[in-house]
Amino acid sequence: MGGMPCYIYWKDRNYIYLGCNNLTATLLNLSSRHEIVGKTDYDFGWDKHMVDSYRLVDEEIIHKKKSILNLEEAVVLGDKTIYLLVNKKPLFNEKDEVIGILGVSVDITERKRMEEELTIAKNAAEMANMAKTEFLANISHDIRTPLSGIVGMAEILENEVPNVIHKKHAQDLRESGHELLNMMNEILDVVQAGELTSSDLFLAPFSLPHLIQSILNLEHPSTIVKEIDLRAIIDPNIPPILICDHKKLYHILLNLVGNAIKFTQAGSVEIKITLVEKQEDNVSLLFQVIDTGIGIPPEALDQIFERFFRLNPTYKSQDKGRGLGLHFVQSYVKLLDGEVNVSSELGVGSTFSFSLNMPIEKNDKILHDFALKTSSKQPANTNTSTAQSSVVDIPDNALHILIIEDNQIALNVVDLMLKQAKFITTPVTNGEAALELATTQHFDFIFSDVGLPGISGVEFTQKLRKYETLHGKRPIPIVGLTAHAEGKMHVACIEAGMNDIMLKPLNLPIIKAMIAKYTSHMG
Ligand code: ADP
Repeated sequence: MGGMPCYIYWKDRNYIYLGCNNLTATLLNLSSRHEIVGKTDYDFGWDKHMVDSYRLVDEEIIHKKKSILNLEEAVVLGDKTIYLLVNKKPLFNEKDEVIGILGVSVDITERKRMEEELTIAKNAAEMANMAKTEFLANISHDIRTPLSGIVGMAEILENEVPNVIHKKHAQDLRESGHELLNMMNEILDVVQAGELTSSDLFLAPFSLPHLIQSILNLEHPSTIVKEIDLRAIIDPNIPPILICDHKKLYHILLNLVGNAIKFTQAGSVEIKITLVEKQEDNVSLLFQVIDTGIGIPPEALDQIFERFFRLNPTYKSQDKGRGLGLHFVQSYVKLLDGEVNVSSELGVGSTFSFSLNMPIEKNDKILHDFALKTSSKQPANTNTSTAQSSVVDIPDNALHILIIEDNQIALNVVDLMLKQAKFITTPVTNGEAALELATTQHFDFIFSDVGLPGISGVEFTQKLRKYETLHGKRPIPIVGLTAHAEGKMHVACIEAGMNDIMLKPLNLPIIKAMIAKYTSHMG
């Protein structure tokens, strides 16, 4: 018993020590373990209140004949305090009379210290997180107010100015402002999403096929550009009119489908809804969004639902996003009493899934109304709003400029500026289309956004330069457009064969100067 890593001691029924192990003797500063014999807790010069409390415990053991287990005790020894996990049990003779106490205590000082440190760290982290959340909510709120003013004024201008070009400028200003406002609202939403409760649920009857159809309509144009297949498979046994907070369900699916399309370059994105169980009044449905995209590395699977998490931050990737979508999805699915799961394989694809229970709508009048609405529904509007370009008198010998920019508004801005400066323009929103045009038509100059979806501005340049070399053509001047004043990216662009880089936002004198710099020899 002597060498055991815990303190062992035994006393008679008058609380007088009869023995202990070596570790206890060392702790008590005794020269040998025999020195404890005959002493009581009052003989060590400890704090009297402390010893009184030990005595109370010992009395209870002797009188109630009961063991005391896992009692945490602080022992003050000189200037240090140690924490013990104390176990004491009564010792009996053959006649079942209590003759003393056996005590076994384990030193948990280190564990206590770690627990305390952990608590302090946890509190600090929670405080920091709260401060961050509050800060975000505050700035989003503060920015929203003046921004709403800007958007409002732009709208007034748009309606009032007679000049068609100025009208277009005001419209772009309003649309950009709107985009920024949406972003602010999204940030505010996500801050609040953490505090959603069931009172934030708005249950109402809805048509599941229509909800899915409107998501398909909205996302269809972006899948055409990428040439990926977007489809929905709804189990035919699912009753069409169900009850749920369908706005939240729409938001969840739109986010998942949006991500699936964003992270898929070839293949398909599928929304699959399966009937898991049907009872008299409700159904259990499994929703899956399945893509054949880039996949998610296993070590990131837990993190993707965290707020503001993105595998590739914006400045390193062409994919737009604020890392909020999946956080929303998780909060909303949880609010609807479900749980989101993800399975993914790098290079093969990802499947996001969740199950929800929903009551079936049985009210005849409501079902009748839905049937009427459905039959009178107009075909979905695919909403391809191309900007009206304004007519400007352009001379015959004008230079022909290809503009590649994926943001429609930014594209309109450059296009309008160039048209005003009397250039002929061809605006396109992706590198693939630009490459097709640049290798089949004549252009004098190219402006290319650097961060394009699909092939990037750098890849576009490399491919075009290769084509020009192969066909013995004179290289068309290419100027990269970027919003980042970052050295590395600039080097990559120049190495790929771009002639220059311009920082956004652009203005006409600089654009003109840049075009002149590379085309003056063309007369
Ligand atoms: P974001 O707005 O940046 O897309 P999300 O919260 O929706 O933010 O997603 C967080 C990150 O999870 C993304 O930046 C991406 O790295 C990863 N991700 C989400 N969905 C997919 C998917 N279908 N395929 C591959 N990666 C995905």
